[in-house]
Amino acid sequence: MGGSEFRFINSLMKFQNLSPRVVKGIGDDAAVLALDARRYQLFTTDMCVEGVHFIKDAPARAVGWKAMAVNVSDIAAMGGLPTVAVVSIGIPKGLALSYVKNLYAGTHACAKAFNVSIVGGDTVRADKLVINVALLGEVEKKYLVTRDGVKAGDRIFVTGPLGKSLCSGRHLDFTPCVKQARFLVEHFKPSAMMDISDGLAGDLRHILAASGVGAVLDEEKIPRAAGATLTQALSDGEDFELLFTLSSGKARKLLEYSRRRNSLRFVEVGKVTAAPGKFLMKDVQGRLRPVAQKGFTHF
Ligand code: ADP
Ligand code: MG
Repeated sequence: MGGSEFRFINSLMKFQNLSPRVVKGIGDDAAVLALDARRYQLFTTDMCVEGVHFIKDAPARAVGWKAMAVNVSDIAAMGGLPTVAVVSIGIPKGLALSYVKNLYAGTHACAKAFNVSIVGGDTVRADKLVINVALLGEVEKKYLVTRDGVKAGDRIFVTGPLGKSLCSGRHLDFTPCVKQARFLVEHFKPSAMMDISDGLAGDLRHILAASGVGAVLDEEKIPRAAGATLTQALSDGEDFELLFTLSSGKARKLLEYSRRRNSLRFVEVGKVTAAPGKFLMKDVQGRLRPVAQKGFTHF
């Protein structure tokens, strides 16, 4: 999320009417609400719009999968598990019923894969195909991870390859990182976590700013998807990998663990520094330069 979109969302904060149930409102991957003594309720929504999140000819089933998967990804980014969803679809005139059925089959397949019950929604006429999912989840209080809480000295990690998600089609059929997130909160609880939807550079800039810290990324270590340049890995967006920070002690243990049993991928890409606003890249020769990439923005 970049400049003006970020300012717009910030301006929405004043419209929040927060009841005592709201533990955390606008600003994280999902809202955090009181549930019971042991758990929080999580609540998120994400919309997929034809021409923005998928092209007109995209396979229906994959579009439907993505609409649910992006929401599951936001629940995972809080450390939680998804539970219940409502699904709304805006259908343009003339769209084949078979397309809509396949779309829904994709949404349902993703819901099933992550134990989500679809319990309602809405169907309306629209100029372009739009699909919106609102999703509830749950997280044990002790496992909740938010975007703030990054500390100087923490190590920065991602869960997988970045860049070229849109042109490779990966953005449509990705698997949300629920397994990775749950493994982390249970064994190596991150100091902060989010899912990468707008590109590593933009999203990391965000969590650094929220905690008043800086960072140095290691150019060599940033995992790139096949054929992706460094710039693409930093700013394409729609990767839906997790970005998280860990104390240096936990980071060392996580890397040791991963070396022994590499079933899940965790890649250290840099280090948090105490210098607010300083976001640097270390190249292969060890030279430092400011990270210019800003990340994807809708407007
Ligand atoms: P993500 O990519 O993780 O879904 P977004 O960039 O879409 O996050 O949104 C960032 C934050 O702003 C989230 O907490 C989201 O709930 C909030 N937000 C975005 N749009 C609106 C809106 N129209 N009204 C209220 N909150 C919003
Ligand atoms: Mg998110």
